[in-house]
Amino acid sequence: MLTDNYTEKLIGMKDAILLNVENIQDTMIIELKMEKRIHECPRCKTNTSKVHDYRIQYVKDVPSFNQKVVLKIHKRRHVCPACGKKFYEHIPLVPKYQRTTQRIWAFVIDELSKVQSMKEVGIRANISAATVARILDHMSYSCDSLPDVISIDEFKGNADGEKFQCILTNPSKRTVIDILPKRSVDSLCAYFAGLQLNNRKQVKYVVMDMSAVFKSMAESCFPNAKIVAYKFHIQRLVTWAFEDMRKSVQKEFHKQRRRYFKRSRWLMLKDPEKLTEDQLEQLSHMLEPGFPNIHTSIRESRE
Ligand SMILES: [Zn+2]
Repeated sequence: MLTDNYTEKLIGMKDAILLNVENIQDTMIIELKMEKRIHECPRCKTNTSKVHDYRIQYVKDVPSFNQKVVLKIHKRRHVCPACGKKFYEHIPLVPKYQRTTQRIWAFVIDELSKVQSMKEVGIRANISAATVARILDHMSYSCDSLPDVISIDEFKGNADGEKFQCILTNPSKRTVIDILPKRSVDSLCAYFAGLQLNNRKQVKYVVMDMSAVFKSMAESCFPNAKIVAYKFHIQRLVTWAFEDMRKSVQKEFHKQRRRYFKRSRWLMLKDPEKLTEDQLEQLSHMLEPGFPNIHTSIRESRE
């Protein structure tokens, strides 16, 4: 005969009384009920242990001993002697309105960390792929702590009706911290508000593009952090500005020279350190005084 202590260790539920264990095909059915306890009436708060009736509830649990496991729980329905309200006793491990135990969620989350399909995880957990997908939807990805430096960027993901998602990374370690479903200031702030303020205060740098959304989020969520614009975004803006200027200057050129500049514009965009001798010569020729000089032209086009 198993003692209560063994039952508790085996089922992982305190105060569970093991009634029967039965194997049907590949499934182990563990029949149990809870120790009779005093419950508080959800309506009038009167304490009672008066039982109205029992109901059998089947709850899927994590596989054990290489078998699927189903808990067959004899669930009490109490009746309040004061107000007559009928209510079910609380079963630890089984969230309200669920037909799976809490630990099946933990099991699924753990399985999902391995590269495999939801269908496979579902087979292992003895639940449908749809339930696995539902658990994944409910998963909170929020991280416990943030490093000194974080980087935030957006990408086009088209998830959950939102066109853009955010990726939060640790640039020092080159690791992904989290993927956030939305990029609005409100949703980003709500996400970071879920983290400890002390933790947010420890963030020293927030690396981002030059969007006003990220900047305003960083200013309110990371009071001690310096905002760093990722150099790629600055280079891109400089390149765009340079191209606009080049085009407006070129308009003033004769046709032939304009075509030459257009074809050779990459010479002006390339890192001068990386230009070959020939390319340097070509570039200096392009910018040579005598020809309408690009610097003069810029000045002229401003006047
Ligand atoms: Zn009551």
